[in-house]
Amino acid sequence: MSAVIQSPSSLLTGERVQVAEEAISHLADLTAQRDREQLDVTLAQGVLELLNTVSSVGVYRLVGRDDEVRRWLCSGLARRNQLSISDPPWVDLDSLPAFNDFPTRQQAVEGRSLEQTDAQADALLVAQQNEGDRCVTVLPLLVEVGLPGVLEVRSELPLSLETLRPIQTLLRVFGNFQNLLESSQRDTLTGLLNRQTFDATFLKASMPVVDTSMEATVERRAQTKTGYWLGVVDIDHFKRVNDGFGHLIGDEVLVLVARIMRQSFRHYDRLYRFGGEEFVILLRGGTEDDARAAFERFRTNVESYLFPQVKTVTVSVGFTEVQLQDTPSQAFSRADQGVYQAKHQGRNRVLSYETLVREGVIKVEGDHIGDVELF
Ligand code: GH3
Ligand code: MG
Ligand code: MG
Repeated sequence: MSAVIQSPSSLLTGERVQVAEEAISHLADLTAQRDREQLDVTLAQGVLELLNTVSSVGVYRLVGRDDEVRRWLCSGLARRNQLSISDPPWVDLDSLPAFNDFPTRQQAVEGRSLEQTDAQADALLVAQQNEGDRCVTVLPLLVEVGLPGVLEVRSELPLSLETLRPIQTLLRVFGNFQNLLESSQRDTLTGLLNRQTFDATFLKASMPVVDTSMEATVERRAQTKTGYWLGVVDIDHFKRVNDGFGHLIGDEVLVLVARIMRQSFRHYDRLYRFGGEEFVILLRGGTEDDARAAFERFRTNVESYLFPQVKTVTVSVGFTEVQLQDTPSQAFSRADQGVYQAKHQGRNRVLSYETLVREGVIKVEGDHIGDVELF
């Protein structure tokens, strides 16, 4: 370090060294993260620590399909001396504020700025606004892949451009890292999550993001059910599509089925392509009947869609309730037995593993699946 310092005036002061060290340490925390929700919480915590005088830092993402009103999901909020929190990923979309409820955030993501001058335009896109006795500063997240979003800082006094510059640098690293993370987790053809991501995050990714405390862990262990349902989808007679219309049309069918999937499930359900013409859905909440209804909705949406050239495509779906001590492959294998039976019974149907076991179609040893009692 000392070799490159030319004059005493360019020496870093103790305070500056500390800030630089803190910033680098936050970068290390950020780039250690592998799931996006946790990444946002870490960003909010990091910025709060870097800006000593501000009272809260939030990361907000735009959720909702293109054909709906998009809404703001709080994906990480850090307040001084309080645990960091976020909206649970499965929050009801209608309960979230709409895109245009927050003009400052709207301006930030649309790339316009209240405070912007030509010189600052490229370097720093910031929207600032007074809200009562608070000043709200909003910076866009520089993300190309994944959900758009903003970083929102609340402070008593407006933040200077000098103060915001290191934050902007942090956001650049954050954006690059998120783009990398998202592209490594998604299937290139359909944009759905890939199989490796399923194995790596299975349930963890769908759990609420709160600071990990012993209490939460103990409470979670006390239950056996997770409240999640895992569905496996296999396109019926897909070989005929490829053989009859060629692989390009086959690929188009895969892309369209993925789109119908996005339209059929909720924003917090996790959709994966497992390779080939096989898809997996991790569905949150509800009873077996609720899960069946959701998978049925998807099945009928596919059945009634008019595919170019191919016209009609159908899918077979098997699903199972995820148990707390399940491994990804155990849960998958149960749902896959449902798919096998659906094919056997004539395809284009949805069958639950638990029902098939109750009906004696599938035999399990004893009355247990793993260590979990079924009935
Ligand atoms: P069923 O599931 O109803 O029993 O019949 P199927 O014809 O769909 O059965 P199978 O699983 O044996 O065939 C799947 C076919 O999917 C095999 C392969 O030609 C095709 N396939 C797998 N991956 C891709 C892909 O990425 N693109 C295209 N176009 N086809 C693929
Ligand atoms: Mg198959
Ligand atoms: Mg198939």
